[in-house]
Amino acid sequence: MKLTVLGYQSPAPGPGGATPGYLLETAQGKILIDCGSGVYAQLMKHIRIEELTAVVLSHYHHDHICDMLILQYGVMMAEIFGKRSGAMPVFGPAEPQDWAKKMNYQKHTQLHTVKESDTLTIAGVEFTFLRTDHPLLCYAMKITDGKKTIVYGADTGPETNWHGFADGCDLFICEGTFTEAYVPNGKRGHLSAREAAQTAQRLGVKQLLITHLSPDIDRTSYEKEAAGGGFTGLWQLADIGQVIEL
Ligand SMILES: [Zn+2]
Repeated sequence: MKLTVLGYQSPAPGPGGATPGYLLETAQGKILIDCGSGVYAQLMKHIRIEELTAVVLSHYHHDHICDMLILQYGVMMAEIFGKRSGAMPVFGPAEPQDWAKKMNYQKHTQLHTVKESDTLTIAGVEFTFLRTDHPLLCYAMKITDGKKTIVYGADTGPETNWHGFADGCDLFICEGTFTEAYVPNGKRGHLSAREAAQTAQRLGVKQLLITHLSPDIDRTSYEKEAAGGGFTGLWQLADIGQVIEL
């Protein structure tokens, strides 16, 4: 499996940046995981839209889906130019329904809703889902080709129960939205970079990619924050165009 970071910022992109989106390439296809602001243009640096097998969405907060409305036009144009046919499959939660419905566009994209108990096989890899601690229905995804396992944590607060889902995975893509100075009081649907590292250490993951970073917080502060989490495996902050092969 080859993972390319297309976007990692939140909640809005910085100059030339993009909010969350990841291209997963397998021996059998190409899957877009989340489709935030600026992700479509980044995707076009790597593949043509007619090469895309499917889209999998964690949840419908705008920073994870807003380029879906543009991807629908991309798919439509590929059909008009005779480069592809049939609806692009989109997998995502059933709620909130008003946003779920928007993932369908004429005959060009078709939403297939997923539940926490579902197992999907897309492009030869298996996806399973875990509801995270987040204000909107949001699914983390475990993706395996039978040899290696990636867990994409999507958006998550500190109360997600990861055990049994992410333990020992080869790559944990975990959000680290805050540095300590900006952690809000009370219930929150996000982690700090330190908490991302602590979670990775607790779960014994092999490699950690910290994502969902604010363009208003400098990367050195994030790095210091993450280093304080005591993760002893390989870790890095996400960046556009970064490739991880497993
Ligand atoms: Zn969110």
